[in-house]
Amino acid sequence: MDCDPEYGGQGLPYVMHTAAQEPFVSANMAFNMYQGLTHGAYSAIHAHGSDEQKQKYLPKMVSCEWTGTMNLTEPHCGTDLGLMRTKAVPNGDGSYKISGQKIFISAGEHDMAENIIHLVLARTPGAPPGTKGISCFIVPKFLVNDDGSLGEENDLRCVSIEHKLGIHASPTCVMAYGDNGGATGFLIGEENMGMRYMFTMMNNARLSVGLEGLSIAERSYQQSLAYAKERLQGRAIGSDPGTSSPIIEHADVRRMLLTMKTHIEAMRGLLYLDAACLDRAKHDATDEARDNARDLAALLTPISKAWSTDLGCELTGLGVQIFGGMGFVEETGVAQHLRDARIAPIYEGTNGIQAIDLVLRKLPLKGGEVVSGFLAHMGSLSADLEAAGGDYAGLAEALTEALAQLQQGTTWMLENMSEPNEALAGATPFLRLFGNVIGGWVLAKSALAALNGDYEDSLVQEKLVSARFFAEQVLPLSSGLRASATSGSRDLFALGAAQF
Ligand SMILES: Cc1cc2nc3c(=O)[nH]c(=O)nc-3n(C[C@H](O)[C@H](O)[C@H](O)COP(=O)(O)OP(=O)(O)OC[C@H]3O[C@@H](n4cnc5c(N)ncnc54)[C@H](O)[C@@H]3O)c2cc1C
Repeated sequence: MDCDPEYGGQGLPYVMHTAAQEPFVSANMAFNMYQGLTHGAYSAIHAHGSDEQKQKYLPKMVSCEWTGTMNLTEPHCGTDLGLMRTKAVPNGDGSYKISGQKIFISAGEHDMAENIIHLVLARTPGAPPGTKGISCFIVPKFLVNDDGSLGEENDLRCVSIEHKLGIHASPTCVMAYGDNGGATGFLIGEENMGMRYMFTMMNNARLSVGLEGLSIAERSYQQSLAYAKERLQGRAIGSDPGTSSPIIEHADVRRMLLTMKTHIEAMRGLLYLDAACLDRAKHDATDEARDNARDLAALLTPISKAWSTDLGCELTGLGVQIFGGMGFVEETGVAQHLRDARIAPIYEGTNGIQAIDLVLRKLPLKGGEVVSGFLAHMGSLSADLEAAGGDYAGLAEALTEALAQLQQGTTWMLENMSEPNEALAGATPFLRLFGNVIGGWVLAKSALAALNGDYEDSLVQEKLVSARFFAEQVLPLSSGLRASATSGSRDLFALGAAQF
C-alpha cells in the first residue's frame, strides 16, 4: 500500500499500511513474512539503489511476483554485525563475486515466486573493520536480463532449513553464496555504506516486528474470547444453582480477557502513532516539523518493537491459559500463537538491544529534549481529563503518578549514563515502564476522544472501562518498575561467572 506508484505501489501513508497489515499478520504471521521481507528489500533498493536497479527489480517486488530477503546474520555474528565475514570482490565490470555463509535467512528459498532478490551484506577487499566496512548487494536467485526476463541461475543455494519453535510456514534458511566461484552481486549505493543503509530502514522494520506482537495477540484474543463465551464450567457467583456458566462469567477469566483487550488497544495506539511519525518525518510541511517527527519516531521505535513483542508472548500465553488444557493441546490452534509470538522479541535486534538503544541512544537525543518534550505532551492530557470530571479525573490522577515515575526513571538514566552498566542494568524494566505509561496515556486519550465525539454510549463506556482497568491494574506497577530500573548494577556483577 505504501510503495511508490512509479513501481506499482499505491503511494498511501505508512500508517495506513501498518493498520492494514494487522489482519494479515493475525491470519498467519509466518506467511506474512514473505511480503514483509520483500517490503524490507524493496525499501533498501528504493532508498539507495540506482534508477536502473529500481526499474529492474522493484515492479516485480511490489507485485510480489518476486520476493525479497535480508541477509545479515552469519554463524558467528548476529547482534554484533561488525564481525561479518562474507566477501564481495569486484569483477571489474561493475558486478561483484559474493562468497560466504549466511544463517537464519527468512524466506531464503521457496518456490512460491519466480525469483528471489536477496540483499546481502558483505565486505569488499580492504574495507575498514567493524560495521564501517560493510556494503550491501543485490544478489538475485536468477540473474535478470536487461529486458527483464530471467537469465541464468546464480551461484547460491539453501543448504538447510531450520526446525523451529514456531512460524513453521516461514523457511529459515542457511544460505551458501559462491560455492562454485562466486555469486554475482550488484552493489547498492556506495561501498562501506551498507550498515548506514540498513539504519534508514530500521525504524520501519522494527515497527513491523512490533506489529507482529500486536497482531498475534489479537488473533489469540479473538479465539480466547470466543472460547470463553462457549465453554461451560463452574457456577459463576450469583447464577442459578445446578447450572454451569460460560467461563467468561468468572472474575479471573475476565481479568485475563481485559488484560489482553486493553494491552492490545494500547499497543495499536502506540504503533499507529509511531507509523504516523514516520510519515510526518517525510511529508510534514516544514523542516522543523519533519525533524521533530523523525526524533519522536526514533524514541518510540525501540518501545514499539520490544514492548509489543514481549506483550505478544505474554498475551498469547494468557490465551493458552483461558483455554485451560485445551490450550496446551494442538487441536485448538491457540498454542501455535504462543510459539509463533516467541521469535518476535529475538529478531530485528533482540529486545535487550532495543532497551539499550532506548536508554543509551534515544534518551540523550537533543540533550534529553526529545524525551522531555514527549513526557510533557503526554502530561498535558491530564488537564482535559480533569475537566471531564468523574472517572476521567481519576484517569488523570493515575496517569500523573505514572508519568512522575517515568520522569524520575528518565532523569536517573540520563544522570547515570557515564557509568553505562548502571543504566544498562535497568534498561529492560525502564523500557517496560515507558511502554506501560504510553499505553495508559493512549487508552485515556481514546476514552476522552470517545466521550467528546459522536459515538454510541456503549463505545464510550467500553473505552472508559479499558482506560480505567489499565489505570488501576497496570499503571500502579510503575513505581515498582521505576525502582527496578534505577537499582543499578551492583548485584548483577557481584558474582563471578563461575558462581552462576
Ligand atoms: C526464525 C528466525 C528468523 C530470522 N530471520 C533473519 C533474516 O531474515 N535475516 C537475518 O539476517 N537474520 C535473521 N535472523 C537472525 C536474528 O536477527 C538474530 O538471531 C538476532 O539478531 C540475534 O542474534 P544471535 O542469534 O546471533 O544472538 P546473539 O547476538 O548471540 O545474542 C544472544 C543473547 O545475548 C544478548 N546480547 C548480545 N549482545 C549483547 C550486548 N552487546 N549487550 C547485551 N546483550 C547482548 C542478546 O540480547 C541475546 O539475548 C532470524 C533468526 C531467527 C531465529
